[in-house]
Amino acid sequence: MQPAPSYPFAQRLGHVETSAIREVFKLLGRPGIISFAGGFPDSALFDVAHIEEAARQALAQQAAQALQYGATEGFMPLREQLAALMQARGASVRAEQLIVTTGSQQALDLVGKTLAEPGCKVIVEGPTFLAAIQCFRLYGAQVISAPADAHGVQPGALERLIEEHRPRFVYLIPTFGNPGGATLTLERRRRVLELAVRHQTLIIEDDPYGQLWFDAPPPPSLLALTSEVPGSRDWLIHCGSLSKILSPGLRLGWMTAPAPLLAQAVMCKQFSDANTSAFAQAVAANYLAAGHLGQALENARRVYARRARVMGQALHEQLGQAIAFTPPQGGLFIWARLTGAGGALADGAALAPKAIAQGVAFVPGAPFFATQPEAATLRLSFATAGEDDIREGVARLARALRV
Ligand code: PMP
Repeated sequence: MQPAPSYPFAQRLGHVETSAIREVFKLLGRPGIISFAGGFPDSALFDVAHIEEAARQALAQQAAQALQYGATEGFMPLREQLAALMQARGASVRAEQLIVTTGSQQALDLVGKTLAEPGCKVIVEGPTFLAAIQCFRLYGAQVISAPADAHGVQPGALERLIEEHRPRFVYLIPTFGNPGGATLTLERRRRVLELAVRHQTLIIEDDPYGQLWFDAPPPPSLLALTSEVPGSRDWLIHCGSLSKILSPGLRLGWMTAPAPLLAQAVMCKQFSDANTSAFAQAVAANYLAAGHLGQALENARRVYARRARVMGQALHEQLGQAIAFTPPQGGLFIWARLTGAGGALADGAALAPKAIAQGVAFVPGAPFFATQPEAATLRLSFATAGEDDIREGVARLARALRV
């Protein structure tokens, strides 16, 4: 027998592994499982009719551009629409100051590629977006968690870590974070920007959920607040995404950064995908120009706010003291902690298979920590299950906790 071939994989692959979350996803295909596991928006909320209209327009009126290669920086009509979206939220950004990326995931990859290298350090929140941790590790960075609470990252602790580790950058999801659901207070936002200037340290603001608020809009983005903190715009990279507010299938995100950083990111993007799908960009540009996003957002906020409330109530009623969480003010997730009250299980990874056996899936929280994982945590998405399924899924979770 021939020996199995041995391929010359790059050393950097040794820094990452397939995410533990994927293991949960493999089980989701089972019939009858209610899933709180995904990070997806609800596909029933896609504004299909208006996206179809925008796609027809792209083919009827813009085929020469929409079906052709395009500028690496992005399709100018979309860049203009995205700049207008950010302006409407208080940030002063011109179209030339942002580039379109293939999802905001690509923006994170470009940040890693342009700034990280073996031996460098990066600070993130504990917990944070797993694919960001993995992406930075792939480029060799040592990723360190800064403590966060229900109001986001703690600026005092963050400053001490910056002084100790001199990171290449600090990666934050200040609004309705994934998975933590927390929102950084206005006061902490100002302090983070002041820290960035004082320590000449780049902050990456990842903001895919900021528009998905429930009762009231969140504080302005770090990007918007740079106008109040002198010098801070030089130290901020802001990433946005249409995935959670329009469609993840379009794979459209964007990034705005100081000009020298943006130029390097564009160069790396050229070697990666040359340009983000011109067709997808034309469709999104037409959709946004037609003014449909406002209504789609209103629908999404209403549906997610109701589901978040239903899940929160059901958790209180069915799990009582065995679970603790801060009700989210927006986004797609409830981040919860098993308290162990009454002798109940207090380990998310141990609860997950019991929950699957009862017919409900969620994601254990520990993998979302770059360092010092908290085993008792879990992430529950309320985005895709209907209200009855949410109540039933929580009842199953309560059963799993008792068996
Ligand atoms: N950042 C965060 C915090 C996310 O939760 C996600 C997707 N779940 C992304 C970035 C990537 O999103 P996309 O590439 O679809 O824009």
